[in-house]
Amino acid sequence: MNNPDIKLRTITMCRTGVSNAEVARRLGVPKGTVGYWKFQDRARHPDLYPPAGAKCPICLGTGPTDRPYSYLLGQYLGDGHIIAKPRQHTLSITCCDDYPVIMDDTQRAMVRVLPGANTTRVRRTGCTDVKSYSAHWTCLFPQHGPGMKHTREIELADWQSEIVESHPWEFIRGLIHSDGCRITNWTEKVIAGERKRYEYTRYFFSNVSSDIRGLYCWALDLVGVEWRYANWRNISVAKKNSIALMDLHVGPKF
Ligand SMILES: [Zn+2]
Repeated sequence: MNNPDIKLRTITMCRTGVSNAEVARRLGVPKGTVGYWKFQDRARHPDLYPPAGAKCPICLGTGPTDRPYSYLLGQYLGDGHIIAKPRQHTLSITCCDDYPVIMDDTQRAMVRVLPGANTTRVRRTGCTDVKSYSAHWTCLFPQHGPGMKHTREIELADWQSEIVESHPWEFIRGLIHSDGCRITNWTEKVIAGERKRYEYTRYFFSNVSSDIRGLYCWALDLVGVEWRYANWRNISVAKKNSIALMDLHVGPKF
């Protein structure tokens, strides 16, 4: 094994967290050799290896678990951001303290999407940041970039679109849980001479990024929910059948 190219390929694959056995199988290198090269390289560059236990589904080539990923993507596009440092990235999603169940859902989705990465909660005034630490969050959310999301183009990678297409409701739920709301208003109507109180429900989604609003509308189209613009940044769902669908799959926030 004197081929420098195969050694480099082995080390590169090891650094992404693929197991020795899998590297050996994919590259046709004896397992013992993989282990030795990795041992040497890790001693020299420990920071280039993922923390023990964190398994990145993108680097491993397995792809993330669809349902929790679709939900987390919605949450990330709504109220999430990644703080990227040379050795460690932090995914942070801000959750309102009024909705403890959503906070639990968010943290559970993080754990399922990137198993092994540590998660924590940081309290602020009226809200809590749910955080997860791993250098691999930028693999999972390639939309990460400098500046605010609405100041740059937000486009899904093909693999992300495929996940949303197979679990559109999870994506919509994530977006509503971050930047949406369900409201019940009432009005009075005179029917056959009698004044009656009449309640109606609306779903709103509000985001300043036109790309993110576009993704929300695209997902609504996938599930047959009718929508319209209430104002330039606010999308409303008001039709009876569409509200019934939204109530079945999303519902009020808790
Ligand atoms: Zn990765």
